Amino acid sequence: MRGIWLHDPRGVDWQKVMAELYAARMNAIFVKFSTGGAAYYRSEVLPGSFYAGRDEAALCLAAARRYGIQVHAWRVCFQMKDAPAESQQRAVREGRVQLDRSGRVLRPSYRAPVLCPSHDWNRSLEVRATVELATKYPFDGVHLDYLRWIDAEPCCCATCRKRFCRDTRSTVASWPRDVMKGGRLARTFVSWREQIMTRMVAEISPAVRRARPSTRISAAVWPELASVRRDRGQNWKAWVDAGYLDFICPMNYSTDPAMFAKRLSEERALVNGRVPIYVGIAAYKCTSGSQLQQLVALAHSSRAGGWVLFNYDERFRTQFLPYLRN
Ligand SMILES: [Zn+2]
Repeated sequence: MRGIWLHDPRGVDWQKVMAELYAARMNAIFVKFSTGGAAYYRSEVLPGSFYAGRDEAALCLAAARRYGIQVHAWRVCFQMKDAPAESQQRAVREGRVQLDRSGRVLRPSYRAPVLCPSHDWNRSLEVRATVELATKYPFDGVHLDYLRWIDAEPCCCATCRKRFCRDTRSTVASWPRDVMKGGRLARTFVSWREQIMTRMVAEISPAVRRARPSTRISAAVWPELASVRRDRGQNWKAWVDAGYLDFICPMNYSTDPAMFAKRLSEERALVNGRVPIYVGIAAYKCTSGSQLQQLVALAHSSRAGGWVLFNYDERFRTQFLPYLRN
């Protein structure tokens, strides 16, 4: 796979994008089509539905087919990016968002609240939104991103507290101190929240496979498994081992060739050939086309199944695409 992520489908000249990717011998594009609160198509499931007279998904697919390029619908799980203000406020009011230790709403990179994975309604939304994405259009795959807790510290929402106590049969004397780093139940909490996330994948994947068996299911994951398990509850090895995913894209966003190669070799050992690894490369961090070429060459020599570049934008088009043609 020679792929690339594209952030926002609205108003894209799909014919031009696909022709350029084809000329650079690329064969896959991962397009963000929904988030935890919005879809960039007419959605029956997500509250924010951006559909301004142009069906971007249909146009994207039609252009991609012409050039033999796969389209994977990229889903930003949980993050309420682009959700209408009213539905963001409702999620906060209903206690469905991740909170810090002082009870403040966590607002990470997208400045929007993030749905809490321990809450049943949110889990059901994730499943329904992903199934809708997989069935509404004939995408080659659905690509799950942000299947991780948003902060290294515990989510301190009421549902997490209740579920944690119930699932682990723990009694919390001091909340959230007992579950914070160094607390009496810190380790138990870290392991519990990892299980919550793994169960999420265990709910989404079979639902998608039942709804449309040909859809390939993939996830963008963080490198360095031990630390992402501890800090974000993301045990992607368990997801691969259980057969929930058809491939993974570890975001190996170091431009240091030695670090890039080291991480990739660790990932290959962990995955052990069960699924392909299409390694994420940070084109945006590269300072030159030849630097990008070097990382691509490393991905080839490691015999990973391919690579996906982050991300398609104007700088990538003008500075880096020419290097991939050669
Ligand atoms: Zn929570």
